[in-house]
Amino acid sequence: MSTPDAFVHTSQPSRVIFGSGRLSELPAELDRLQLSRVIVICTPPQQATGNAVADLCGHRAHSVYPHATMHVPRSVAAAACEYVNTHEIDGAVVVGGGSSVGLGKALALETGLPILAIPTTYAGSEMTPIWGITDHGDKTTGRDVKVLPRTVIYDPDLTLTLPASLSVSSGLNALAHAAEALYAPDGSPIIEMMAGEAARALTKALPAVATNPTDKAARAELLYGAWLSGACLGATSMSLHHKLCHIIGGTFDLPHSEVHAIVLPHVLSYNLDGAPRARGILSRAVGADDPAALIYSLSQQIGSSTSLQDLGMSGGNIELVVSKATANPYSNPRPVTAESIRSIVSGAFFGTPPKRNP
Ligand code: NAD
Repeated sequence: MSTPDAFVHTSQPSRVIFGSGRLSELPAELDRLQLSRVIVICTPPQQATGNAVADLCGHRAHSVYPHATMHVPRSVAAAACEYVNTHEIDGAVVVGGGSSVGLGKALALETGLPILAIPTTYAGSEMTPIWGITDHGDKTTGRDVKVLPRTVIYDPDLTLTLPASLSVSSGLNALAHAAEALYAPDGSPIIEMMAGEAARALTKALPAVATNPTDKAARAELLYGAWLSGACLGATSMSLHHKLCHIIGGTFDLPHSEVHAIVLPHVLSYNLDGAPRARGILSRAVGADDPAALIYSLSQQIGSSTSLQDLGMSGGNIELVVSKATANPYSNPRPVTAESIRSIVSGAFFGTPPKRNP
């Protein structure tokens, strides 16, 4: 692979602690950040994990706040801000997936509160300065370095309880970040190295986790790949795949990681024909000439849903997606035309094998 002629690379300023059992370093990390009155944010189903994390924080924990929900509704963010201001909280420990991290980021955006993140899915939000808040179904997103968690503790032991199906879709969500980073307009040699390594680790670990969700070595490899993918997401601009998933998930209120998992092979099949360098890196990383076909057959083999109609989208809405996805221009390695979007979304809707588009 030749060296790129020119690039710009910005590293995000965060500290990452990775490894089985490393959650035990949480109290020392809070002391390092000089936080002595934190809330522990989680989703309602993960309250037991939130309680355990608060116990570990000891006297540094003020309370557990188990009210994170998907896509950060503005009302949820506003209530959390009021809680933090009323109780003189000095930091947030967020434990969980992108929903918990998202609520922490909304708080940081409004109040400047420092965040320590403990991810338990593979969504990657903990490595990005991207925030999102939803108002009546419309999600506004932006970038601000103050929402980037100061410290991230990746402890694969915490992912052992993530159900196999969610582990697979979340892992493919991570793979989508790495894949689109490879043809991002603001990529760099470091991004290429991270994205290729992420794709290798994710595609190796996914079948093992799907077969045995308590396989600790595979869980660690999946989380390692998710870390690298999240770093790629945080450092680059995403293209058609993320745009489409944002539209499909947001418009029809469909689950985030499942939509990513279904759409990814169809977009890659189209886009990689216009991104030979990305195709080369991805092909070598996953050990297949056609990465899109490999991802599709991996999804089938490990029992991940492959069609949007299975998630509850209506076929009559394909044209709505086409019109939204072509409404504004954005960077993509191949032209974003109504015809190409229709073909990609139809393939994802019916779950047919991805086709190489002319
Ligand atoms: P999620 O955080 O909603 O988690 C999905 C479900 O899994 C929840 O019910 C949660 O309680 C449960 N869960 C999480 N970890 C678990 C574990 N270890 N064991 C058992 N259950 C567990 O879903 P997600 O896919 O992680 O995140 C999706 C959200 O993150 C979306 O709102 C998306 O837009 C956002 N996101 C943001 C960014 C960013 O950079 N801003 C990046 C990726 C995703």
